[in-house]
Amino acid sequence: MLELNDKYGRSFKTLRVSLLSTCNLGCIYCTMGSEDEITVDRKPQASASSFLNTIGKLHAQLGLKTIRFTGGEPLLYRELTSVIKGAKKLGIDDLKITSNGFLLERMALELKEAGLRSINISLDAVDGDTFFQMTRRKQLDRTLRGIEEAINAGLEVKINAVIMKGKNDNQVLPLLNYASKMNIPIRFLEVMGMGHLFGKGDQYLFTQQNMLDVIATRYDVIRLPRKPSSTANYWQTNQGGVFGIIANDSEPFCKDCNRLRLDAEGNIYGCLSNNNPIAVSGDEDSIQLKDKLQQAMQQKQSLNFVGSEMSMMHIGG
Ligand code: SAM
Ligand code: SF4
Repeated sequence: MLELNDKYGRSFKTLRVSLLSTCNLGCIYCTMGSEDEITVDRKPQASASSFLNTIGKLHAQLGLKTIRFTGGEPLLYRELTSVIKGAKKLGIDDLKITSNGFLLERMALELKEAGLRSINISLDAVDGDTFFQMTRRKQLDRTLRGIEEAINAGLEVKINAVIMKGKNDNQVLPLLNYASKMNIPIRFLEVMGMGHLFGKGDQYLFTQQNMLDVIATRYDVIRLPRKPSSTANYWQTNQGGVFGIIANDSEPFCKDCNRLRLDAEGNIYGCLSNNNPIAVSGDEDSIQLKDKLQQAMQQKQSLNFVGSEMSMMHIGG
Protein backbone atom coordinates (compact mmCIF):
# COMPACT_ATOMS: atom_id res chain seq x y z
CA MET A 1 0.00 0.00 0.00
CA LEU A 2 1.21 3.50 -0.83
CA GLU A 3 2.81 5.36 2.08
CA LEU A 4 2.30 9.08 1.61
CA ASN A 5 4.65 11.45 3.23
CA ASP A 6 2.68 13.76 5.51
CA LYS A 7 4.12 15.34 8.63
CA TYR A 8 0.81 14.87 10.47
CA GLY A 9 0.64 11.16 9.59
CA ARG A 10 -2.45 11.60 7.42
CA SER A 11 -3.44 9.20 4.67
CA PHE A 12 -6.24 9.07 2.10
CA LYS A 13 -8.82 6.49 3.11
CA THR A 14 -12.07 8.19 2.10
CA LEU A 15 -12.74 9.24 -1.48
CA ARG A 16 -15.44 11.81 -2.23
CA VAL A 17 -16.56 11.63 -5.82
CA SER A 18 -18.38 14.60 -7.33
CA LEU A 19 -20.39 12.82 -10.03
CA LEU A 20 -21.60 16.02 -11.71
CA SER A 21 -21.54 19.75 -11.13
CA THR A 22 -25.22 20.45 -11.60
CA CYS A 23 -28.16 20.47 -9.25
CA ASN A 24 -31.93 20.75 -9.03
CA LEU A 25 -31.83 23.01 -5.96
CA GLY A 26 -30.25 26.42 -5.54
CA CYS A 27 -29.06 26.59 -1.93
CA ILE A 28 -28.03 30.16 -1.20
CA TYR A 29 -24.67 29.16 0.34
CA CYS A 30 -23.77 27.00 -2.67
CA THR A 31 -25.08 28.70 -5.84
CA MET A 32 -25.69 32.28 -6.85
CA GLY A 33 -28.54 31.63 -9.27
CA SER A 34 -32.14 32.72 -8.84
CA GLU A 35 -34.97 30.19 -8.75
CA ASP A 36 -35.50 30.64 -12.51
CA GLU A 37 -31.94 29.62 -13.19
CA ILE A 38 -32.20 26.20 -11.56
CA THR A 39 -32.14 23.90 -14.53
CA VAL A 40 -30.65 20.54 -15.09
CA ASP A 41 -27.61 20.84 -17.28
CA ARG A 42 -27.93 18.63 -20.36
CA LYS A 43 -24.22 18.39 -21.06
CA PRO A 44 -22.94 14.80 -21.25
CA GLN A 45 -22.12 13.26 -17.90
CA ALA A 46 -18.84 11.39 -17.36
CA SER A 47 -19.42 7.65 -17.76
CA ALA A 48 -19.58 5.18 -14.90
CA SER A 49 -16.75 3.23 -16.55
CA SER A 50 -14.42 6.24 -16.54
CA PHE A 51 -15.19 6.93 -12.86
CA LEU A 52 -14.68 3.25 -12.00
CA ASN A 53 -11.39 3.09 -13.89
CA THR A 54 -10.00 6.00 -11.86
CA ILE A 55 -11.51 4.78 -8.59
CA GLY A 56 -9.99 1.33 -9.19
CA LYS A 57 -6.51 2.84 -9.74
CA LEU A 58 -6.82 5.00 -6.64
CA HIS A 59 -8.07 2.05 -4.58
CA ALA A 60 -5.13 -0.11 -5.69
CA GLN A 61 -2.72 2.54 -4.38
CA LEU A 62 -4.57 3.66 -1.27
CA GLY A 63 -6.72 0.77 -0.02
CA LEU A 64 -9.79 3.00 0.23
CA LYS A 65 -12.25 2.23 3.01
CA THR A 66 -15.12 4.54 2.08
CA ILE A 67 -16.50 6.26 -0.99
CA ARG A 68 -19.02 9.06 -0.71
CA PHE A 69 -20.78 10.02 -3.94
CA THR A 70 -21.78 13.64 -4.06
CA GLY A 71 -21.92 16.54 -6.49
CA GLY A 72 -23.88 18.68 -7.50
CA GLU A 73 -26.83 16.43 -6.91
CA PRO A 74 -25.75 12.78 -7.27
CA LEU A 75 -29.30 11.49 -7.77
CA LEU A 76 -29.26 13.33 -11.13
CA TYR A 77 -26.36 11.17 -12.29
CA ARG A 78 -27.84 8.70 -14.77
CA GLU A 79 -25.50 5.77 -14.07
CA LEU A 80 -25.63 6.07 -10.30
CA THR A 81 -26.58 2.46 -9.59
CA SER A 82 -23.89 1.20 -12.00
CA VAL A 83 -21.21 3.23 -10.30
CA ILE A 84 -22.32 1.99 -6.86
CA LYS A 85 -22.37 -1.64 -8.01
CA GLY A 86 -18.98 -1.19 -9.69
CA ALA A 87 -17.39 0.30 -6.56
CA LYS A 88 -18.74 -2.61 -4.53
CA LYS A 89 -17.17 -5.04 -7.00
CA LEU A 90 -13.84 -3.31 -6.47
CA GLY A 91 -14.13 -4.44 -2.84
CA ILE A 92 -15.12 -1.12 -1.28
CA ASP A 93 -18.09 -1.83 0.99
CA ASP A 94 -18.65 1.42 2.79
CA LEU A 95 -20.56 3.27 0.07
CA LYS A 96 -22.38 6.48 0.91
CA ILE A 97 -24.15 9.36 -0.76
CA THR A 98 -24.74 12.98 0.16
CA SER A 99 -27.96 14.17 -1.48
CA ASN A 100 -30.60 16.87 -1.22
CA GLY A 101 -33.20 14.07 -1.17
CA PHE A 102 -35.40 15.72 -3.80
CA LEU A 103 -35.50 12.59 -6.00
CA LEU A 104 -35.03 10.08 -3.21
CA GLU A 105 -38.58 8.94 -2.69
CA ARG A 106 -38.55 6.83 -5.82
CA MET A 107 -34.85 5.87 -5.75
CA ALA A 108 -34.14 4.82 -2.16
CA LEU A 109 -34.84 1.11 -2.54
CA GLU A 110 -32.96 0.81 -5.82
CA LEU A 111 -29.92 2.47 -4.23
CA LYS A 112 -30.03 0.15 -1.24
CA GLU A 113 -30.25 -2.86 -3.54
CA ALA A 114 -27.29 -1.60 -5.57
CA GLY A 115 -25.14 -1.75 -2.40
CA LEU A 116 -25.45 1.71 -0.89
CA ARG A 117 -24.98 1.65 2.87
CA SER A 118 -25.81 5.14 4.03
CA ILE A 119 -27.06 8.52 2.95
CA ASN A 120 -26.65 12.03 4.31
CA ILE A 121 -29.61 14.16 3.36
CA SER A 122 -29.36 17.92 3.35
CA LEU A 123 -32.26 19.60 5.10
CA ASP A 124 -31.79 23.18 6.24
CA ALA A 125 -35.33 23.85 7.53
CA VAL A 126 -38.52 22.09 8.49
CA ASP A 127 -40.53 25.24 7.96
CA GLY A 128 -41.71 25.52 4.32
CA ASP A 129 -40.96 29.24 3.85
CA THR A 130 -37.48 28.97 5.34
CA PHE A 131 -36.82 25.84 3.24
CA PHE A 132 -37.73 27.91 0.17
CA GLN A 133 -35.51 30.81 1.23
CA MET A 134 -32.57 28.45 1.73
CA THR A 135 -32.96 26.26 -1.37
CA ARG A 136 -35.03 28.45 -3.75
CA ARG A 137 -37.31 25.46 -4.16
CA LYS A 138 -40.70 24.77 -2.69
CA GLN A 139 -41.75 21.19 -1.96
CA LEU A 140 -40.17 20.62 1.42
CA ASP A 141 -42.62 17.69 1.63
CA ARG A 142 -40.84 15.95 -1.18
CA THR A 143 -37.53 15.96 0.72
CA LEU A 144 -39.29 14.76 3.88
CA ARG A 145 -40.88 11.88 1.95
CA GLY A 146 -37.43 11.02 0.57
CA ILE A 147 -36.06 10.81 4.12
CA GLU A 148 -38.88 8.45 5.14
CA GLU A 149 -38.34 6.23 2.12
CA ALA A 150 -34.60 6.02 2.77
CA ILE A 151 -35.29 4.90 6.35
CA ASN A 152 -37.89 2.38 5.13
CA ALA A 153 -35.42 1.02 2.57
CA GLY A 154 -32.99 0.19 5.40
CA LEU A 155 -30.39 2.84 4.58
CA GLU A 156 -28.49 4.45 7.43
CA VAL A 157 -29.75 8.04 7.31
CA LYS A 158 -28.26 11.25 8.69
CA ILE A 159 -29.40 14.80 8.18
CA ASN A 160 -27.04 17.66 7.32
CA ALA A 161 -28.22 21.19 8.04
CA VAL A 162 -26.16 24.26 7.15
CA ILE A 163 -27.06 27.01 9.60
CA MET A 164 -26.67 30.62 8.43
CA LYS A 165 -26.94 33.54 10.80
CA GLY A 166 -30.06 35.56 10.09
CA LYS A 167 -31.34 33.07 7.51
CA ASN A 168 -32.26 29.80 9.21
CA ASP A 169 -30.77 29.99 12.71
CA ASN A 170 -34.33 29.73 14.05
CA GLN A 171 -34.43 26.19 12.62
CA VAL A 172 -31.84 24.61 14.96
CA LEU A 173 -34.37 23.40 17.53
CA PRO A 174 -37.14 22.45 15.06
CA LEU A 175 -34.60 20.43 13.04
CA LEU A 176 -33.24 18.74 16.15
CA ASN A 177 -36.77 17.86 17.25
CA TYR A 178 -37.61 16.50 13.81
CA ALA A 179 -34.47 14.32 13.75
CA SER A 180 -35.19 13.03 17.26
CA LYS A 181 -38.77 12.21 16.25
CA MET A 182 -37.46 10.29 13.21
CA ASN A 183 -34.81 8.66 15.40
CA ILE A 184 -31.94 9.70 13.13
CA PRO A 185 -28.78 11.70 13.84
CA ILE A 186 -28.48 15.26 12.61
CA ARG A 187 -25.33 17.28 11.97
CA PHE A 188 -25.39 21.07 11.92
CA LEU A 189 -22.77 22.68 9.70
CA GLU A 190 -21.10 26.02 10.16
CA VAL A 191 -21.24 27.79 6.83
CA MET A 192 -17.99 27.55 4.85
CA GLY A 193 -16.37 30.25 2.76
CA MET A 194 -16.57 28.36 -0.51
CA GLY A 195 -17.42 29.61 -4.02
CA HIS A 196 -19.29 32.93 -3.93
CA LEU A 197 -18.90 33.00 -0.11
CA PHE A 198 -15.11 32.79 -0.30
CA GLY A 199 -13.80 35.45 2.08
CA LYS A 200 -17.37 36.39 3.08
CA GLY A 201 -18.47 33.39 5.14
CA ASP A 202 -18.09 35.28 8.45
CA GLN A 203 -21.10 37.43 7.64
CA TYR A 204 -23.36 34.39 7.97
CA LEU A 205 -21.34 32.38 10.47
CA PHE A 206 -23.49 30.86 13.19
CA THR A 207 -20.84 29.18 15.31
CA GLN A 208 -20.78 25.83 17.10
CA GLN A 209 -21.13 27.76 20.39
CA ASN A 210 -24.12 29.73 19.04
CA MET A 211 -25.79 26.42 18.13
CA LEU A 212 -25.02 24.89 21.53
CA ASP A 213 -26.45 27.97 23.24
CA VAL A 214 -29.71 27.60 21.33
CA ILE A 215 -29.90 23.87 22.09
CA ALA A 216 -29.18 24.52 25.79
CA THR A 217 -32.40 26.54 26.02
CA ARG A 218 -34.28 23.27 25.61
CA TYR A 219 -31.95 20.33 26.39
CA ASP A 220 -29.11 19.30 28.64
CA VAL A 221 -26.37 17.81 26.50
CA ILE A 222 -23.24 15.74 27.02
CA ARG A 223 -20.36 15.68 24.58
CA LEU A 224 -19.47 12.28 23.09
CA PRO A 225 -15.89 11.24 22.26
CA ARG A 226 -14.78 12.25 18.76
CA LYS A 227 -13.96 9.39 16.37
CA PRO A 228 -10.65 9.75 14.49
CA SER A 229 -11.01 11.57 11.12
CA SER A 230 -14.60 12.51 11.91
CA THR A 231 -15.78 15.82 10.49
CA ALA A 232 -18.31 16.27 13.31
CA ASN A 233 -18.24 16.71 17.07
CA TYR A 234 -21.14 14.83 18.66
CA TRP A 235 -23.44 15.39 21.64
CA GLN A 236 -26.34 13.51 23.13
CA THR A 237 -29.39 15.25 24.60
CA ASN A 238 -31.02 14.21 27.88
CA GLN A 239 -33.86 12.88 25.72
CA GLY A 240 -31.54 10.51 23.85
CA GLY A 241 -31.26 12.39 20.54
CA VAL A 242 -27.78 12.56 18.98
CA PHE A 243 -26.55 15.59 17.09
CA GLY A 244 -23.25 16.63 15.60
CA ILE A 245 -21.72 19.92 14.67
CA ILE A 246 -19.33 20.25 11.75
CA ALA A 247 -17.40 23.25 12.96
CA ASN A 248 -15.04 24.02 10.09
CA ASP A 249 -14.43 27.45 11.46
CA SER A 250 -14.57 27.10 15.27
CA GLU A 251 -12.95 23.70 15.60
CA PRO A 252 -11.34 22.65 12.30
CA PHE A 253 -10.63 18.95 11.79
CA CYS A 254 -7.75 19.30 9.29
CA LYS A 255 -5.17 17.57 11.47
CA ASP A 256 -6.57 14.08 10.89
CA CYS A 257 -8.53 14.62 7.68
CA ASN A 258 -8.28 11.50 5.51
CA ARG A 259 -10.33 12.69 2.53
CA LEU A 260 -9.36 12.81 -1.13
CA ARG A 261 -11.70 14.32 -3.72
CA LEU A 262 -12.29 13.40 -7.36
CA ASP A 263 -14.35 15.70 -9.59
CA ALA A 264 -16.41 14.85 -12.67
CA GLU A 265 -13.61 16.00 -14.96
CA GLY A 266 -11.10 13.54 -13.55
CA ASN A 267 -9.22 15.91 -11.23
CA ILE A 268 -8.19 15.06 -7.71
CA TYR A 269 -7.89 17.48 -4.78
CA GLY A 270 -6.42 16.89 -1.35
CA CYS A 271 -8.26 19.73 0.35
CA LEU A 272 -11.36 21.90 0.11
CA SER A 273 -9.16 24.88 0.80
CA ASN A 274 -7.18 24.37 -2.40
CA ASN A 275 -8.73 24.75 -5.81
CA ASN A 276 -5.75 23.63 -7.90
CA PRO A 277 -6.96 20.57 -9.79
CA ILE A 278 -4.56 17.68 -10.29
CA ALA A 279 -5.60 15.88 -13.49
CA VAL A 280 -5.71 12.08 -13.34
CA SER A 281 -6.32 10.29 -16.63
CA GLY A 282 -6.43 6.78 -15.22
CA ASP A 283 -3.59 5.84 -17.62
CA GLU A 284 -0.78 6.77 -15.22
CA ASP A 285 1.61 4.09 -14.06
CA SER A 286 1.84 3.57 -10.31
CA ILE A 287 4.85 5.91 -9.93
CA GLN A 288 3.08 8.74 -11.76
CA LEU A 289 -0.10 8.22 -9.75
CA LYS A 290 1.85 8.13 -6.51
CA ASP A 291 3.43 11.45 -7.45
CA LYS A 292 -0.01 13.01 -8.05
CA LEU A 293 -1.33 11.67 -4.76
CA GLN A 294 1.68 13.13 -2.99
CA GLN A 295 0.90 16.53 -4.57
CA ALA A 296 -2.71 16.20 -3.37
CA MET A 297 -1.52 15.38 0.14
CA GLN A 298 0.61 18.52 0.13
CA GLN A 299 -2.52 20.58 -0.57
CA LYS A 300 -3.91 19.70 2.84
CA GLN A 301 -3.98 22.54 5.34
CA SER A 302 -1.99 22.14 8.51
CA LEU A 303 -4.56 23.41 10.93
CA ASN A 304 -7.26 25.68 9.58
CA PHE A 305 -9.94 25.58 6.97
CA VAL A 306 -9.64 28.70 4.79
CA GLY A 307 -12.05 27.87 1.97
CA SER A 308 -11.60 28.51 -1.74
CA GLU A 309 -13.23 30.14 -4.76
CA MET A 310 -14.33 26.77 -6.04
CA SER A 311 -17.97 26.04 -5.35
CA MET A 312 -18.93 22.99 -3.30
CA MET A 313 -21.14 22.04 -6.19
CA HIS A 314 -18.03 21.39 -8.31
CA ILE A 315 -15.51 20.02 -5.84
CA GLY A 316 -18.13 17.91 -4.04
CA GLY A 317 -19.14 18.65 -0.46
N1 SAM B 1 -26.51 18.20 -3.51
C1 SAM B 1 -26.12 17.36 -2.43
C2 SAM B 1 -26.55 17.94 -1.11
O1 SAM B 1 -26.89 19.11 -1.04
O2 SAM B 1 -26.52 17.21 -0.13
C3 SAM B 1 -24.65 17.04 -2.43
C4 SAM B 1 -23.70 18.14 -2.76
S1 SAM B 1 -23.62 19.43 -1.57
C5 SAM B 1 -22.37 20.47 -2.28
C6 SAM B 1 -22.84 18.61 -0.21
C7 SAM B 1 -22.95 19.27 1.13
O3 SAM B 1 -22.23 20.48 1.10
C8 SAM B 1 -24.36 19.60 1.56
O4 SAM B 1 -24.61 19.06 2.85
C9 SAM B 1 -24.37 21.10 1.61
O5 SAM B 1 -25.24 21.58 2.57
C10 SAM B 1 -22.92 21.40 1.90
N2 SAM B 1 -22.50 22.76 1.50
C11 SAM B 1 -22.50 23.31 0.27
N3 SAM B 1 -22.00 24.56 0.31
C12 SAM B 1 -21.67 24.81 1.60
C13 SAM B 1 -21.12 25.92 2.29
N4 SAM B 1 -20.78 27.04 1.67
N5 SAM B 1 -20.93 25.79 3.62
C14 SAM B 1 -21.26 24.67 4.29
N6 SAM B 1 -21.78 23.58 3.68
C15 SAM B 1 -21.99 23.65 2.36
FE1 SF4 C 1 -27.46 21.62 -4.83
FE2 SF4 C 1 -26.39 20.44 -2.75
FE3 SF4 C 1 -25.45 22.81 -3.58
FE4 SF4 C 1 -27.84 22.67 -2.46
S1 SF4 C 1 -25.86 22.21 -1.49
S2 SF4 C 1 -27.34 23.76 -4.36
S3 SF4 C 1 -28.57 20.74 -3.13
S4 SF4 C 1 -25.33 20.92 -4.68
